[in-house]
Amino acid sequence: MNGFIPYGRQNINQQDIDAVLAVLRSDWLTQGPTIERFERAVAEYCGVKYAVAVSSATAALHIACLAAGLGAGDMLWTSPNTFVASANCGLYCGADVDFVDIDPHTYNLSVEALEQKLIEAEREGKLPKVVLPVHLAGQSCLMDRIASLSRKYGFTVLEDASHAIGAKYQGSPVGNCQFSDMAVFSFHPVKIITTGEGGVVVTNREYLYEKLIRLRTHGITRNPKLMQGESHGLWYYQQLELGFNYRMTDIQAALGASQMQRLDEFVSRRRLLAARYDRLLQDLPLTLPWQHPDTESSWHLYVIRLKLDKIAKTHRQVFEELRQAGIGVNLHYIPVHTQPYYQTLGFKWGDFPEAEQYYQEAISIPLYYDLTEENQERVVAALRDIIQAI
Ligand SMILES: *Cc1c(COP(=O)(O)O)cnc(C)c1O
Repeated sequence: MNGFIPYGRQNINQQDIDAVLAVLRSDWLTQGPTIERFERAVAEYCGVKYAVAVSSATAALHIACLAAGLGAGDMLWTSPNTFVASANCGLYCGADVDFVDIDPHTYNLSVEALEQKLIEAEREGKLPKVVLPVHLAGQSCLMDRIASLSRKYGFTVLEDASHAIGAKYQGSPVGNCQFSDMAVFSFHPVKIITTGEGGVVVTNREYLYEKLIRLRTHGITRNPKLMQGESHGLWYYQQLELGFNYRMTDIQAALGASQMQRLDEFVSRRRLLAARYDRLLQDLPLTLPWQHPDTESSWHLYVIRLKLDKIAKTHRQVFEELRQAGIGVNLHYIPVHTQPYYQTLGFKWGDFPEAEQYYQEAISIPLYYDLTEENQERVVAALRDIIQAI
């Protein structure tokens, strides 16, 4: 037995390294031209007008919620089956957060559950201001239906596409914002491409773009047309609202721009490995990832669900034995509403049964660009041994 196989890992090649070195030798480590080049690369890839690069997807979600006007007395709805950042961004703005249970096949926010909840919320006069669908594992949510509900009920749609750069929905890139107001990507090293830490907000709406740019840098503008009164001179800037320092560095953007050139190669390798898992695992007592025909996943994660009535072990035993065998399995996600912090806000176990059922059965198995077929077979063999041994 050799070497631990992680569940995910970045790939950095010589081109990436050279791109970063070039910025280190240049005049601009931050707020230079490479940021714009990276933003343009993301926008062009997605087929969207504007991209705003920031220090993380968490920062991106925060300023996107603020740009949407989310504040005290408002409500943000998201999926419980996500990383805590997708919900925390609502709380940062002083809004309340609620969840919509997941679809049992895609594990994404269920559009049926969303519609039901909207009908009830309208009756009670408590409609959400922002709905934040999360494209789990890189599979898009059913955005055309969410967009039509947004027109009917008047909420802003903010996609958490942290897993989904390089994915498609109805044949077009996720992040084109055809069915949403804004979308957010993450470039943490386990995601599809990386900048070390980093995120981007994309949008087609100019007023949102202007606001996002300001919120990224302290709420400051240097554009005389946006100022109150006359500019005092070339040095002058005005703070128009309360913003942050959420800037990405040019060092990070250089890595990002280089990684963007490799994105299609990353995704096609992941897709091939996922198809290979589909074949190699089909005879085991597992539910394999189901793909809606409108979607083409970027395969950030490969999630299996254990058919526990056909396995003589618990979920926890299977998980721990895989780790002992050197397989870096993980679990995406612990339902957010069951976190102690969210329990202090009034949520409890039992609130979102589909997400909780999923949590009892799900395991993310290793999937990343550099995963060799040999190591993939090691994962499959370990799973087979562990599940079938009594
Ligand atoms: C990774 C992730 C985030 C946060 O991304 P950071 O760039 O680490 O801030 C948010 N939402 C989801 C679904 C994620 O997977």
